[in-house]
Amino acid sequence: MDRQQEYVLRAIEERDVRFIRLWFTDVLGVLKSVAIAPAELEGAFSEGIGFDGSSIEGLARVSESDLVAKPDPSTFQVLPWRGGKHGTARMFCDILTPDGEPAAADPRNVLKRALARAADAGFTFYTHPEIEFYLFKPQENETDPLVPIDNAGYFDHVARGQGHDFRRAAITLLESMGISVEFSHHEAGPGQNEIDLRYADALSTADNIMTFRSVVKEVSIEQGFVASFMPKPMAGQPGSGMHTHLSLFEGDTNVFHAPGSKYGLSTTARQFMAGLLVHSGEITAVANQFVNSYKRLWGGQEAPSYKTWGHNNRSALLRVPMYKPSKGQSARIEYRGMDSAANPYLALAVLLRAGLKGIEEGYELPEEAEDVVWELSDGERRALGIEPLPGSLEQAVETMEHSELVADTLGENVFNFFLANKRQEWTDYRAQVTPYELARVGLI
Ligand code: GLN
Ligand code: MG
Ligand code: MG
Ligand code: MG
Repeated sequence: MDRQQEYVLRAIEERDVRFIRLWFTDVLGVLKSVAIAPAELEGAFSEGIGFDGSSIEGLARVSESDLVAKPDPSTFQVLPWRGGKHGTARMFCDILTPDGEPAAADPRNVLKRALARAADAGFTFYTHPEIEFYLFKPQENETDPLVPIDNAGYFDHVARGQGHDFRRAAITLLESMGISVEFSHHEAGPGQNEIDLRYADALSTADNIMTFRSVVKEVSIEQGFVASFMPKPMAGQPGSGMHTHLSLFEGDTNVFHAPGSKYGLSTTARQFMAGLLVHSGEITAVANQFVNSYKRLWGGQEAPSYKTWGHNNRSALLRVPMYKPSKGQSARIEYRGMDSAANPYLALAVLLRAGLKGIEEGYELPEEAEDVVWELSDGERRALGIEPLPGSLEQAVETMEHSELVADTLGENVFNFFLANKRQEWTDYRAQVTPYELARVGLI
């Protein structure tokens, strides 16, 4: 047993932990959990805990369904909402085949593979997400209209605001689990909030996002609300994006920073951005995985619809945040496409590989977009060479299907499962008759 594993065993005893939840994530980004007793933990560390992979979305085919979950001791945390007495802890797991090989379809493994590739080139990938979500009042029926808990807007300070109490409770839980929060505020939509996590290596970020979703759900139940990470829960109101800030380090040095150059960005950063732009269409299905995601991307309200970059331009897909020469280590770029319902492991993996491709191939970054890209006419956009992101899940899936980059990043199993699942989602959606259609043509 290694030292981290020993530390976990000791902590379990000292902190009176009775249940250990083994967490992992399916291909669509849903958290899975199996609880074991402390006595089982040594075995779980050495051999893992077996389960039926074919019952979990995308993890395994029925004919080769045995899989093993092996806890990663570095992710051990006590779950603060389960109380201190006879408590519950959790660890994220790696999924292995019965021979002990990493399971091809484990999203955490997909990200680890992408990170290993970056490490071969000498890079560590740091990320921080800005996570937006809505708080609604509880509904009687699933089909009732959604009623936000308040009518406040961007940065509003609401006296006795329920949003403040909510964010405070959620952040307290996150901090007690070692997840640092940098900012939190009311977002532009009624009942919409944002919490920004501090930067971390991408694997920790993905684990943190999964934990974040659980914490937000727990606190919302506690406070009598319903939390939603749906990309566009209400037509005409802002969607919930998950802007993600990205940088590459070599050792302790941020290689996106070049003092004295435009916006402080190095050639490496510009090539990384070019990679993201060139491949942005191919990776959209992963960063925006639901039919509903495209209602956000094409519904205005500051969501990006075109493949552009800009400096402090909030209509751009990629934004270079304000640059201070004294803060070179924080040089980074913000990818604004991803939404709050993405599988963070897969999404961070494809973002990284798209950016690395730009570096490997020495892509040239196009001119920055100075205009608010939504205000240009189609002709103006064409003249400027500005291309749209996919307009629907169907288009995004068609674009992804031809992507060698995404196939290679996700691996054959995840790639094929993901495409099949999303084609089915589109087919199901296309068969629906919506209230919009009834209002538009119902009486014709
Ligand atoms: N909610 C917007 C989106 O969908 C982002 C708003 C903002 O943070 N400026 O991306
Ligand atoms: Mg923000
Ligand atoms: Mg925001
Ligand atoms: Mg942002």
